[in-house]
Amino acid sequence: MARTVVLSLVMSAVGVALSLHALSFPAPAAPVAIPWWALLLLVMGTDAFVFHLELRGEAHTFTLSEIPVVIGFFFAPAPVVIVCRIVGSTVFQALRRRQFGVKLLFNAADFVLDAGLIVTLLHVLVGARRPQEVVTWVLVVCCAITTELPVSACLSTVIRWHGGHSRVALVVATTVVVSVVNTSLGILAADLLWTSPSAIALLAVVLGITFTAYRGYFNLHKRYSSLQLLYDFTKTVGGSMRAEAVLQEILSQARQLLAAERAEVILFEGTTGHATLRQTITEDDAPAEAGLLDPAAGGDLSVLWEQIKDGTGSVVVPRGTRDPGLIAVRQASSVDDLIVAPLRAEGHVVGAILVANRLGQVSTFDEEDARLFETLANHASVAFDNSRLVQQLRQEADERRHEAEERRHEALHDSLTGLPNRTLFNQQVGEVLGGRGEAAVLLMDLDRFKEVNDSLGHHHGDLLLIEVANRLLETLGREDSAARLGGDEFAILLGGTNDAVGVEASARRILDAFERSFRIGEVSLDVGASIGIALAPSDGSDPATLLQRADVAMYEAKTAKTGLARYSAERDRFTPRRLALAGRLRQAIDDREIIVHFQPKARLADGKVMAAEALVRWRHPEFGMVMPDEFIPIAEQAGLEPHLTRYVLRAALRHCADWQRAGHRIGVAVNLAVRSLLDARLPDAVTSMLAESGVPVELLTLEITESSVMADPDRATAVLNRLAGLGLRLSVDDFGTGYSSLSYLQRLPVHEVKVDKSFVFRMASDANDATIVESIVQLGHKLGLSVVAEGVEDQLSWDRLRAMSCDVAQGYYVSKPIPAATMSDWLDEQRRLDGAA
Ligand code: C2E
Ligand code: CA
Ligand code: CA
Repeated sequence: MARTVVLSLVMSAVGVALSLHALSFPAPAAPVAIPWWALLLLVMGTDAFVFHLELRGEAHTFTLSEIPVVIGFFFAPAPVVIVCRIVGSTVFQALRRRQFGVKLLFNAADFVLDAGLIVTLLHVLVGARRPQEVVTWVLVVCCAITTELPVSACLSTVIRWHGGHSRVALVVATTVVVSVVNTSLGILAADLLWTSPSAIALLAVVLGITFTAYRGYFNLHKRYSSLQLLYDFTKTVGGSMRAEAVLQEILSQARQLLAAERAEVILFEGTTGHATLRQTITEDDAPAEAGLLDPAAGGDLSVLWEQIKDGTGSVVVPRGTRDPGLIAVRQASSVDDLIVAPLRAEGHVVGAILVANRLGQVSTFDEEDARLFETLANHASVAFDNSRLVQQLRQEADERRHEAEERRHEALHDSLTGLPNRTLFNQQVGEVLGGRGEAAVLLMDLDRFKEVNDSLGHHHGDLLLIEVANRLLETLGREDSAARLGGDEFAILLGGTNDAVGVEASARRILDAFERSFRIGEVSLDVGASIGIALAPSDGSDPATLLQRADVAMYEAKTAKTGLARYSAERDRFTPRRLALAGRLRQAIDDREIIVHFQPKARLADGKVMAAEALVRWRHPEFGMVMPDEFIPIAEQAGLEPHLTRYVLRAALRHCADWQRAGHRIGVAVNLAVRSLLDARLPDAVTSMLAESGVPVELLTLEITESSVMADPDRATAVLNRLAGLGLRLSVDDFGTGYSSLSYLQRLPVHEVKVDKSFVFRMASDANDATIVESIVQLGHKLGLSVVAEGVEDQLSWDRLRAMSCDVAQGYYVSKPIPAATMSDWLDEQRRLDGAA
């Protein structure tokens, strides 16, 4: 302290001595004169521009102080220049920089020495030379440097006294550079002021922009040092700042400091090298979804990670690199350029920080940037060294991973039963297929779930589904897996067997398990199930196809009431053949490929044929004769059923009219499918077709299945009432296979029931079936209905039905369906036989 004061006094003394001498210098001979106050303002103004330069890790501060002195030398008297410089700078230091005491004393002494020395030198060396002369330039620069050297030497000495360290060579070098720049600017300004003063404005513009740009650069530097502040901050505030926020801040600083598009922090997980945590930001510091580098990635990146994990230092991958290793890294990470630096905590490398994609087209990262980045990484490491922070980060990462896992689980599982959902099931099937190419997929659907749901409510429905899932899991083996696809639909992937017999046995076991009732609260429920089976590779080779085919098979199992069905291409409406049929059907109707056969219905009492049922066929040019069981569902699917029905009706009535004209008073029966039954325009169409054909209305019978009435009883009943109102006959087909009862039929305007052929077939062998047929006959008669037995194939059945007083028989025993063209001949022949009898 004392040394500094003494030195200050010595410097001031020298300065004052020189200044006193300056009183005798002649005034300059410039065309204009600068008033003292303007010069004072210029001094304070230039002092406001302080440069901070970081050179070799040390901060240096420079001012523009030579400029006003050089200008003043040419345009103002020497004492004015000296006083302005000393007063202006000292006042500025005190007011703006808030410097007082020894520091201000030393700086003031510095200004006194500096001002006295330079003004004296200028007057001695430059004298009355004008600023335009080259000699003047050289001399002014020499003066400035000569002045700066002793002044800087004093400064370095004081710094060293105060515990700082200052490398003289470096100081000298930078002093020379700064002096040359400042004096050049000063001479330039002086020259302009001398020759064309207004051009000073232009100079001001250029300088203004230059300084603004420099400021921007410097601010970036300042931000970098703020990381240290950040660390101190987090350390003092402890847990009150979230670790993630600290991380975000570090990333944001890194990105801005290095002018990079992206920044990323990776924390390694223990020794495995995987990332526990990865946070990436992109422009605007927004979080990026995709990371930049995967520390677990091997290959071209492994060398990079080894170097980082060794703690050797940072790695720069510049844009135009020629190094093959670096090129490989660039390609593997798909970024333009990057710098990676290790993060340390407690002496170990715990992660890495990286920036990528330098903004702006020309520049890329260089070694200089790498050093800067490493410093930043070190600061960040200090923050990480607080092991609690790392702990906290890992914990936060764990939580997020946990959440992500939960979300993933939710996305792949059914929330009610916890079973895998369709997505996951498809994945599982895909994996099995990928491995062996073989798989067994079952689709199970509860038979009476809808009833439970409707009668007991959704709550019971949900509880039942949970129980179903549990029971399913109980019955399955360890290699099998089950999924809920939605509603009461469950899918099963059998892991063990793939041969049809084994799979069917497993499916049967599952079905048996569902025979037992479920207890839901107070109620006991019998639901039953149906299962469809599809096997890979025979039934399909991808998960979607297998599921779809298992669905087809399940539908089959349901309708056939077999409980279980293996997929069969013949019964599948989605096979190429089905699709081909569907595509051609409309054309086929118009092209008369669709024809009608007739099957006689004979009275059991006397064997007399009293009607014929129209049965449609498709003479397909490619597939040959296609039967209605195959293409009627297709017609329904394609919405062509009403069209087809009208076509058959018209043909049936036309032939019936022919029979009448040939003297055969027999009726005709036409089948109606569900859609036609709901077709409100059908009664009018029937009326006009009857009128067109001239067939008496009572000769027409329409056959409807009970299940089609049950599909929408209200609408069906309305249409049926209108049809019956026309005076035609209605017959309930396939009776006994649906859900309705005879008493229900009582409410419908029907005239006839047709006992389903399955009962008639089994009548001879099964006493049960015989009883069913007999009771249908009796009940039918009680309700005033005519009872028809279909599927009568032999004399025995005929005789038994007759004994039961069944009214009419239809079947191969009477005749197979006959082509329309030969029907008249058959009737003639029949009449001839009757006549002969
Ligand atoms: P369905 O109305 O029950 O017709 C009786 C079916 O049983 C006919 O089969 C007939 O050939 C067959 N059948 C008759 N007697 C015997 C017998 O003694 N033994 C055996 N094994 N079978 C016998 P088809 O012609 O294949 O017709 C099948 C079904 O297609 C019909 O069953 C009917 O539901 C439907 N269908 C036929 N034509 C039409 C139509 O024009 N429109 C609509 N919507 N459906 C039709
Ligand atoms: Ca029928
Ligand atoms: Ca039938």
